[in-house]
Amino acid sequence: MTGSVTVVGLGPGDPDLLTRSAEAALARAEDLIGYIPYVARVPERPGLIRHATDNRVEVDRARHALELAAAGRHVAVVSGGDPGVFAMAAAIFEAVEAGDPLWRTLEITVEPGITAMLAAAARLGAPLGGDFCAMSLSDNLKPWAVITARLDAVLRADFVVSLYNPISKARPWQLGRALALAAEIRAPDTPVIFARAVSRPDEALRVLTLAEARETTADMATLVIIGASATRLISRGDGVPYVYTPRSVPA
Ligand code: SAH
Repeated sequence: MTGSVTVVGLGPGDPDLLTRSAEAALARAEDLIGYIPYVARVPERPGLIRHATDNRVEVDRARHALELAAAGRHVAVVSGGDPGVFAMAAAIFEAVEAGDPLWRTLEITVEPGITAMLAAAARLGAPLGGDFCAMSLSDNLKPWAVITARLDAVLRADFVVSLYNPISKARPWQLGRALALAAEIRAPDTPVIFARAVSRPDEALRVLTLAEARETTADMATLVIIGASATRLISRGDGVPYVYTPRSVPA
């Protein structure tokens, strides 16, 4: 019998936001592979071998999964949010493309999850109501010059911009530069959302203006959303306003 690899999106954190299809894929798995905090989210059960790793090289993890599947195992590879958004799904296909031709005959499926950007947007209202884009600010896998060129282009095109991986210990300055670039292009009162640990017990939401926004407001668990020119706020009782971007754009 041939093995399989299912790349499973675990959603932003709250188990209620895991799809039933993802849950079923986890229940079928014999081996579970992923970065430690994601593997920790999947309950232990007899018959499931957990391979939690702190190796951040995703392609290494992908190869391991494919080797196990080639040996006949049913493997689930887990990512937070959606596995296709700055996560393991692309690493799996990169490994397949470059690897053993036998891997192409394995059954490989991807189970989508709710990505951080959509979970954060839902908490705030509808900040992604118009055209938007998503970028990873990490320069581990691409040059910083590419990131700034893309960011400059989408800011000028007036997209709402979601920034994943805004900051880490090894990358302390990138978000500050990105916000400074935004301030050159967008108005100082543009809303900027800092959505931290959405749907987890330590969730924290802040809405600042671009003039107030600082990189120190973010950490590795934060998603940053920079509003477009039409993005606006509706104040409400409890402090954090609704944020929305109308779908309509004047002619
Ligand atoms: N595949 C994931 C993204 C991986 S990149 C997804 O689809 O959500 C990791 C980045 O995602 C973090 O640095 C942070 O910017 C964002 N992120 C992941 N989970 C989050 C959450 N629950 N709340 C806010 N941001 C989150």
